[in-house]
Amino acid sequence: MTRIFHRDPKTSMPVAVGGEGVHLIDAEGRRYLDASGGAAVSCLGHGHPEVTAALRDQAGRLAYAHTSFFTTEPAERLADFLVETAPPGIGWVYYVSGGSEAMEAALKLARQFHVDNGEPQRVHFIARRQSYHGNTLGALAVGGNAWRRAPFAPLLVDVAHVSPCYAYRGQTPGETEEEYAGRLAAELEAEILRLGPGRVAGFVAETVVGATLGAVPPVAGYFRRVRDVCDRHGVLLILDEVMCGMGRTGTLHACEQEGIAPDLMTVAKGLGGGYQPIGAVLVAERIYRTVLDGTGYFQHGHTYLAHPVACAAALAVQTVIRRDGLLETVARRGRGLYERLRDRFANHPHVGDIRGRGLFQGIELVRDRATREPFDPGLRLHARIKRQAMARGLLVYPMGGTVDGRSGDHVLLAPPFIVSEDDLDAVADRLAAAVDAALLDVAG
Ligand code: PLP
Repeated sequence: MTRIFHRDPKTSMPVAVGGEGVHLIDAEGRRYLDASGGAAVSCLGHGHPEVTAALRDQAGRLAYAHTSFFTTEPAERLADFLVETAPPGIGWVYYVSGGSEAMEAALKLARQFHVDNGEPQRVHFIARRQSYHGNTLGALAVGGNAWRRAPFAPLLVDVAHVSPCYAYRGQTPGETEEEYAGRLAAELEAEILRLGPGRVAGFVAETVVGATLGAVPPVAGYFRRVRDVCDRHGVLLILDEVMCGMGRTGTLHACEQEGIAPDLMTVAKGLGGGYQPIGAVLVAERIYRTVLDGTGYFQHGHTYLAHPVACAAALAVQTVIRRDGLLETVARRGRGLYERLRDRFANHPHVGDIRGRGLFQGIELVRDRATREPFDPGLRLHARIKRQAMARGLLVYPMGGTVDGRSGDHVLLAPPFIVSEDDLDAVADRLAAAVDAALLDVAG
């Protein structure tokens, strides 16, 4: 008997009672290899002794102090770390408690920047189809996933959506990456001009698209062109690195690999690694200065922002990642993961694409490899794979709607940075068995 309004009230779930390294343990004593870190959250795995010690220590000293009265030591130190390691131009940190809150804050800050900058006519945001930015109303509005938006569409602010950078389905035969990137940048520019020069506030994009596409990195040069278009039209570039950031792709920020810096960037999941709910908006110096010289403060705020225990946990997580050189490990293990996925799935009749960066990778399932036709969405192949994987003691993050928000299936993998080569063998073996069992289900 449960009184929780669960995500899926019709399915009963095991009770998680423990976590050890890359494993979660349920009340029946079953162990699950956590190959998705939940939803790309658990970067240090579960039960890390240094992080739990830091949490306990901070909770014992000071659990909470409202940010309208005080600042705190862990919040200040974490902000120092985040600015010191941020992309060029970023000078400030605005704390929140998760990804959606980070996106809401980024959108409002972008708007306030333009108002304070004497351009109140900048009211439009442009984002991309097939992206996920969170479930609160502002974040959902910029999100580009059709089924998530549909029931709430009348409540959402009007956001224009352009094509994602999704080479497997978007790049045409014979088109080079450069041409594809150029075409997408031209589409963005045309949309800015259609909405009216001087009327667009920001362009929002996940640097590597996570939940809704399954770890799809941009093609080379895409973000440099996007940056140019934004600069030409005074549009802020808002990167959502809630899922792909904080080391997941092998660099602290995914945009480092694109050679560009955003004006605003959101981070969350891997920041606290699941030890506490925490997120942040990284803010460019010029945005901060303009707001300071204008209104004088950011007209926003939540009760729990810059929570000292959350900041202490995140600081401990980031300290361990840096001290133990885990970003290099992510890159190395990422290559190992890719090789294993390629071994198992490169010739699989129903895997059309294997993609990703670092420990952030995905496979896309197709009915027909030649035509790339997806499975009937009614079959819910992704849900079957998740079930079959769990039955084999493996946690992965499959999702449907890959192609257009309704059809298409993929499986996202995002294991903790401490995953071993042996663990990766087990991930690949169990995933291959789960995919085949789910396909057998569908065929039967
Ligand atoms: N942005 C991205 C890219 C995400 O993947 C998510 C969550 O999956 C969010 C925003 C929303 O984060 P949260 O669920 O913490 O509100």
